[in-house]
Amino acid sequence: MELLEIARDVYVTDGATRVGVVVDDDREAVIIDAGPWDRYGKELKGLLDKRGFSLRAIVITHAHADHFGAAAYLAASTGARVYAHPLERPVLECPILEPIYLFGGANPPRELRTKFYLAPGVRVDGELGGSLDVCVTSRWGLRTVDLPGHTPGQTGIAAGRVLFCADSFIGSSVLAKHPVPLNMDVEGALRTYSVLLGQDMDVFVPSHGDILKDAAGAVGENRDRVLDVAGFIQEFIHKPRSIEEIIAAVSDRFGVDVKDLGTYYLMNLTVTAYVSYLMGQKRAVAIYRSNRQYFRRASQAETEP
Ligand SMILES: [Zn+2]
Repeated sequence: MELLEIARDVYVTDGATRVGVVVDDDREAVIIDAGPWDRYGKELKGLLDKRGFSLRAIVITHAHADHFGAAAYLAASTGARVYAHPLERPVLECPILEPIYLFGGANPPRELRTKFYLAPGVRVDGELGGSLDVCVTSRWGLRTVDLPGHTPGQTGIAAGRVLFCADSFIGSSVLAKHPVPLNMDVEGALRTYSVLLGQDMDVFVPSHGDILKDAAGAVGENRDRVLDVAGFIQEFIHKPRSIEEIIAAVSDRFGVDVKDLGTYYLMNLTVTAYVSYLMGQKRAVAIYRSNRQYFRRASQAETEP
């Protein structure tokens, strides 16, 4: 692992999941996300120690295991305070909630209790977006940017003219490997793309993908993909289809390989979010036949207020 300096006193780790590091005049550091697991946290702490940075705050952009897995280790070993949005806090403090919600609220099986879905819990000391905002932001000159969609309370962090974008969009090369990005709220994601396009910044740091001077291309690709998937589902439900059928059709069309329980339930969440989006726009309705649930395109009569 290496720390790349992308602006004065602003660093980012290399690798598949990026962590940001912002340092103040006293060499006290705040990190943006913590990385996926303890081993990562140990390596990151080693890099901070080597440069003489002391970790004071850990800002978690959203409660996915690959972003906060090392937070408990780092908080315990440095005494750093942990900050997160109120909507992300419950999962950080009770991380079993992530596999529980993925499995539809039921007791999750072993396959959803691996380190990819279940990280060690960490106590949140302060919430982003409220009055405690000041505790994090005043010393380091940070600003929070609401970026909901991927998760309900996902928060970006602006450090000067660098924007840490979390998983609000993924880089082009990552999009090629993960062709249907996870969003739990499609409308929120679409609004967030507009927010990102309106940010006047010099550097954009998605957690997964290349660091960019201009995010318009990558954000546009993510937005186009979301609109393509929504349009495809809208077309596919010209006759009643089950969620199972929609997952299979979307996976076939966009090149997702559903081969294990984890991938299936991530796709289930993703596809259900699209169906919810279409229902919210009165473009789809749920119907029930022979104890089965289907979704189909809304008829003219059903779209009228
Ligand atoms: Zn995420």
